[in-house]
Amino acid sequence: MEIPIPNNGNLKIDNILLDLNGTLAVGGSLIEGAKERVGKLRDLYKLILLSGNTRGGADQLANDLGILFIETKTGAEKQRVAEDLNPITCAAIGNGLIDLELIEAVHLGIVTIQGEGVHTKTLLAADIVVPSINDALDLFLDRNRLIATLRR
Ligand SMILES: [Mg+2]
Repeated sequence: MEIPIPNNGNLKIDNILLDLNGTLAVGGSLIEGAKERVGKLRDLYKLILLSGNTRGGADQLANDLGILFIETKTGAEKQRVAEDLNPITCAAIGNGLIDLELIEAVHLGIVTIQGEGVHTKTLLAADIVVPSINDALDLFLDRNRLIATLRR
């Protein structure tokens, strides 16, 4: 999806890469409201869940959400997914230090604070900081929010 940002170029995002723990889920539970937003975004973007699957069930969750799951055990593995897709076409949403390389690599990096917090190194590498995953996903559902934050 191409979004012209006044005085800040064109954003052309095709892929949204999602971290699981601390981002889509807190304390192992999916954040309420995230599933319906993912369902709407699926028609507009390719969404991919990236997780080390330390709690188990990430593949099943991705299946329930109707999105792809790629097991990624390290920050370098997360970054590689973006590199393979072409980082300029990617947005990523994460929160941990493991997301640092991914957030640095993609064209649009978003971090969520929520109950598990955001690592400050990853926060400083991000383009946008939001309190919750629902706020992050709403940036893509209502492009005017994204434009308002990114325009110069
Ligand atoms: Mg995380």
